[in-house]
Amino acid sequence: MDYKNDIKYRKETLKKLLFNVQKSEDLIVKALFDDFKKPEFEAVVTETNYVISELKSTIRNMEKWARPKRVFPSLLNFPSTDFIYKEPYGNVLVIAPWNYPFQLALCPLISAVAAGNKVVLKPSELTPNTAAVIARIIEKSFHVNHVEVVQGGVETSDRLLAKRWDYIFFTGSVSVGKIVAKAAAEHLTPITLELGGKNPCIVDQTANLKLAAKRIVWGKFINAGQTCIAPDYILVQKDMKINFITYLIEEIIQAYGKKIKNSPDYARIINSKNWVRLTGMIASEKLIFGGESDASDLYISPTLIDEPELESPVMKEEIFGPILPVLVYESENDIDIVIRNYEKPLALYVFSENDSFSKKMITRYSFGGGCINDTLAHFTNKRLPFGGVGQNGMGAYHGKLSFETFSHHKSIVKKANWLDLTMRYAPYKDKLKAIKRLLDRF
Ligand code: NAD
Repeated sequence: MDYKNDIKYRKETLKKLLFNVQKSEDLIVKALFDDFKKPEFEAVVTETNYVISELKSTIRNMEKWARPKRVFPSLLNFPSTDFIYKEPYGNVLVIAPWNYPFQLALCPLISAVAAGNKVVLKPSELTPNTAAVIARIIEKSFHVNHVEVVQGGVETSDRLLAKRWDYIFFTGSVSVGKIVAKAAAEHLTPITLELGGKNPCIVDQTANLKLAAKRIVWGKFINAGQTCIAPDYILVQKDMKINFITYLIEEIIQAYGKKIKNSPDYARIINSKNWVRLTGMIASEKLIFGGESDASDLYISPTLIDEPELESPVMKEEIFGPILPVLVYESENDIDIVIRNYEKPLALYVFSENDSFSKKMITRYSFGGGCINDTLAHFTNKRLPFGGVGQNGMGAYHGKLSFETFSHHKSIVKKANWLDLTMRYAPYKDKLKAIKRLLDRF
């Protein structure tokens, strides 16, 4: 079992993992439903199928990604051939959240294995059914000394973080991200932090309002709003507000029917702590739509809130639930005041037919990633890096970049011996002028 040096072995284990994920797809979908009634369609599209596709593309490309890359040499080293070697970090810890508990646990694990690391995965304790299925799949696919699942909550996480790792990949909240960063600092362990933030969704007067409403409703209420890159609040041009709200309501009913609680396509809140937090956000607000809730079923209906104050609970922190505040703006300065009231967003969305306005919005603000005229879509392209900036995280992954994330890039200059220019060696004497002239050229 030489996973560090034998890429064929790594590839075989990932093929085994692919087989076991495909074989267990029904079990995974059931576990996700048992954990928080994740609809089957969402479970397949955003979890099992996503992971299967990641596995297939990694298996297909990993040998190419692992090859030493020859780069153009510097003339200063003439004669040489220069390479970048991808070296596994060693022991990797992956800590996963509950909201996409299968995908966000498995995807980093797949790339860490492909890159030649040993992995310990801690899934979220808030989705115990999915965590148990993950543990079984991993047990069947890998030797325990290669990849291991450790189940448990905060104490388990703390225990794992107290150990020395060569890389830590964490997905979760900003507050726990800081705990992870502190623990990593102890050993100067490199980390990726995939965290959260307050994501604006700007709708201007030129936007195709009906289509914008459809795409926002989809991106917001999928997974009952418990998506790190879900639109957190809307900033709509003032004159468009009434029309836009009408479309939003139409689209919610079109997606989930009039009796949303009975819809098979609408998930539940993860636990009562979050249910209490979210219903507390609605309590003192002016509702435009929704606001229904049922503690016994951890249900909160898609809810639209009318122009809340920036100091109100719903605008204070990341919502991470099916509540969508609708704010208005008249000038670009109004947009600026709202967006700059918060840390950098993880995602930002602009709905507009005006290219220069869209471009201005996506370049004026610093944020992890986003879309023009859509929501969430940037997550799905393996060629786009996915990650945060500032308080919402550091580092990025997806596709080839995930392999690179879990590899140290080792630079090697292979010098030839047939020629040895003496200019760099002491005694330096009259060589300074000549070397300066040479350096100036590069
Ligand atoms: P969380 O931070 O509470 O938990 C994440 C993981 O950390 C879990 O495995 C948990 O057991 C562990 N943990 C919790 N408290 C800990 C502590 N005190 N010390 C050590 N470990 C601890 O996050 P969550 O509730 O599972 O997920 C929701 C958050 O994750 C949201 O803020 C969301 O935006 C963010 N998120 C980000 C992404 C992304 O890709 N950027 C994806 C999904 C979720």
